Amino acid sequence: METVSVNQAKIIIIQGDITRQKTEAIVNAANSSLLGGGGVDGAIHRAGGPAILEECKAYVAKYGRLPTGQAMITTGGNLLAKYVIHTVGPIYSKTKAQAQELRNCYLNSLKLAAEKGLKSIAFPSISTGAYRYPLDEAAPIAIKAVKDFLKEKTSIEEVDFILFNDETYEAYVNAAR
Ligand code: ADP
Repeated sequence: METVSVNQAKIIIIQGDITRQKTEAIVNAANSSLLGGGGVDGAIHRAGGPAILEECKAYVAKYGRLPTGQAMITTGGNLLAKYVIHTVGPIYSKTKAQAQELRNCYLNSLKLAAEKGLKSIAFPSISTGAYRYPLDEAAPIAIKAVKDFLKEKTSIEEVDFILFNDETYEAYVNAAR
């Protein structure tokens, strides 16, 4: 575990399973359909139960697919977290837009959490699984986005990165140092 303080808030980097976190919100690395998928998305829907998918389907029926870099919020269902914030990371393809899109995932998720007045939120490593964003590029973008967001005073006191394996954990610890 590694902790970085930014103003009145802290960033905590932990190796673990995001579905077991007790933060008020956890973030899902979803896809645009919001219908669930593999990786962390599948794990969150399995652990959280059908109420999450129902809200995702209602959102898509009303507003259409969730664009890359944007975020929306649902109940946490059976999870310990009260809310799940779903965001769509970019698929790695060496386009110029993708770094900004990945940054937007973190900023827009934090913005939603702050709008709800939440104090704590946990992120997985967005886009570095099935979407193939290289860890050494994605980790600094993620850490910088969170640090930049925390420069302004908001309700958020704790931002956790919950990283599933050794390699991902090391990349985020290195980026934070
Ligand atoms: P993406 O499609 O955005 O790349 P993935 O779910 O494929 O999303 O992978 C994103 C990251 O989530 C990967 O580092 C993967 O190891 C990790 N991951 C998978 N399951 C969990 C989990 N239960 N908790 C935290 N991270 C997870």
